[in-house]
Amino acid sequence: MGKVTGFLEYERIEEGYEVVETRVKNYKEFVIGLTAEQAQVQGARCMDCGTPFCNNGCPVNNIIPDFNDLVYRNDWKNAITVLHTTNNFPEFTGRICPAPCEASCTLNVNDDPVGIKSIEHAIIDRAWAEGWVKPQLPKFKTGKKVAVIGSGPAGLAAAQQLARAGHDVVVFEKNDRVGGLLRYGIPDFKMEKSHIDRRTEQLKAEGVVFRCGVIVGELPKGSKVTNWAKERVTPEQLQAEFDAVLLAAGSEVSRDLPVPGRDLDGVHFAMEFLPQQNKVNAGDKVKGQLRADGKHVIVIGGGDTGSDCVGTSNRHGAVNVTQFELLPMPPEQENKDLTWPYWPYKLRTSSSHEEGCQREFAIATKEFVGEKGKVTGVKTVRVQWEGGKMVEVPGSEQVLKADMVLLAMGFTNPVNTLLEGFGVERDARGNAKATTDFTGGYATNVAKVFAAGDVRRGQSLVVWAIREGRQAARAIDEFLMGASDLPR
Ligand SMILES: Cc1cc2nc3c(=O)[nH]c(=O)nc-3n(C[C@H](O)[C@H](O)[C@H](O)COP(=O)(O)OP(=O)(O)OC[C@H]3O[C@@H](n4cnc5c(N)ncnc54)[C@H](O)[C@@H]3O)c2cc1C
Ligand code: SF4
Repeated sequence: MGKVTGFLEYERIEEGYEVVETRVKNYKEFVIGLTAEQAQVQGARCMDCGTPFCNNGCPVNNIIPDFNDLVYRNDWKNAITVLHTTNNFPEFTGRICPAPCEASCTLNVNDDPVGIKSIEHAIIDRAWAEGWVKPQLPKFKTGKKVAVIGSGPAGLAAAQQLARAGHDVVVFEKNDRVGGLLRYGIPDFKMEKSHIDRRTEQLKAEGVVFRCGVIVGELPKGSKVTNWAKERVTPEQLQAEFDAVLLAAGSEVSRDLPVPGRDLDGVHFAMEFLPQQNKVNAGDKVKGQLRADGKHVIVIGGGDTGSDCVGTSNRHGAVNVTQFELLPMPPEQENKDLTWPYWPYKLRTSSSHEEGCQREFAIATKEFVGEKGKVTGVKTVRVQWEGGKMVEVPGSEQVLKADMVLLAMGFTNPVNTLLEGFGVERDARGNAKATTDFTGGYATNVAKVFAAGDVRRGQSLVVWAIREGRQAARAIDEFLMGASDLPR
C-alpha cells in the first residue's frame, strides 16, 4: 500500500486551474496537473483497502490501489502498465471523467477521498512524455474482418482490443475526424483534441483502418445530427464484407422542447452549437457559425452538456449566460451516510459555472418569444415537485431576455435509421437491444451484429463507453474464434 500512515498525515490536494480571466480568452485546457512529487504524496494517502470500493465504483474497474502504490513508490512505468490493463485511454478519463471511483473511496466516508483522477492524469501524461505508450502489435493475425461503426470512445476501445487480438478492423465514421463526442461535443478547453490524434496514430500503427467521412446507412430526412459524410456504405455491404459488425454509433438524437416559438431563429440544440466551435478550433472554416458574442444566452438543461454551452458562450463573449434546470437545487453537501459508496446527489458547480453563469433551478420553459422571426426571450414559470409530479407555481410566469437559446436536455435515443437498416431490435428506450451478459453479451438479434456504448446503454459517460467497447471486443473475439484471451 501507499504509506501506512499517509491518510493521516497528508491532505488531499486538488489539481489547479488557470485563473478565469486568462482561460476564458482561449479554448485551451486550463487544468494544471499535479507535479510528480504531489502525485506521490496523494498516492501515499491510499489505504489499500481489503475491499477497494474504488475499484468497484470505477466502470472500467481500474486497479486503483495498485497504481496509487506504484506512484507513491515512484515506479511510474509499472503504474501505466497497471492502468492500461483496464483502461485503453486514461488520458481521456483522467481529464473528463466525473470520477465515480472517488465517490466510492473509503476515505470519502469521513475525510476527502484519494485524488484518484488526478493521479491517473499524472500517470498517463508522464507515460506519453516518456515515450512509454507504444503500439502493441498482435502476435498473430486471424484473417477475420470486423467493422466498427462509430469512432467514439466505445468504438475506439473495441477497435484497439480487436486489433490486438489479431483481427482486421475498419472503423467507419460519418464525421470528418475520429473521436465521436470526444471530438465533436466535448469542448477543447475540457479536452484538447491532440489527445485523440495521438491515440488514433497508435491504433493505426496497430493495424486499425479509419474511414472518416463515410456514413453507414443514412440519416432520417431533416435530421440535425452532425454529419460530414461524403460517402455512404450500406448495412448490407458491411454484413457481406465483414465477419462481425459492431454498432458503436452513440445516442445522437437530442431531446427537443416543442413549445410555442421553437422554430424561432436563435433557438438551437447544444449539439448544433458545440461541434462548430470544435471545428473552428481545429482550423476549419464554419460558414455562419452560431456565436454567442454580445448575446444574452439561455441554456436549457442543467447537466454537463449545458455546462459546456456555458463555457463556450463565455469564450465567445456572451453578455450573460443563464442556465435552467427543471429540478430544485440539490443540497450543497451530500448525505454520505445515505449515499456512500454510490454517486451522491449534490450540487455540482463546474469550472464553466465558475466562469460566469446565473443558475436557475425549478424553472420550466413555457414558450420562446420573438420578433421578426428571431428569439428575444423565454417565457418561464417556476415549478414545484409534489409527490414526484411537477406543479407550476401560480403567478410565477416571467419573460427573460434571450438572443440565443441552447437546448441541452440530453439525448433520447440513437438514430433510428441505422438500427432499422440492420434490422436490430430496440429496447423500450429506443436503444439497440443487447445484454451485457458474460455469454452472448453485446450481441443483437441480428447474426454477427453487436452493439456497445451509448447506442446500447443510452447517453452515458466516456468511461462506460470504454468499458462497453472492451467487453464487446471480447464478445466478438469469442464469437469469431470460439474463445478469447481479451480481458472483460
Ligand atoms: C457536450 C457533451 C459533453 C460531454 N461531457 C462528458 C464528460 O465530461 N465526461 C464524460 O464521461 N462524458 C461526457 N459526455 C458523454 C460522452 O461523450 C458519451 O457518453 C460518449 O462519448 C459515448 O461514447 P460512444 O462511443 O458510445 O458514442 P459517441 O461518442 O457518440 O460516438 C459515436 C460516433 O458514431 C458515429 N456514427 C453514428 N452513426 C453513424 C453512421 N451511421 N455511420 C458512421 N458513423 C456513425 C458518430 O458520428 C459518432 O462519431 C458528454 C457528452 C456531450 C454531448
Ligand atoms: S477505496 Fe480509496 S483508500 Fe481504499 S484502496 Fe481505493 S483509493 Fe485507496
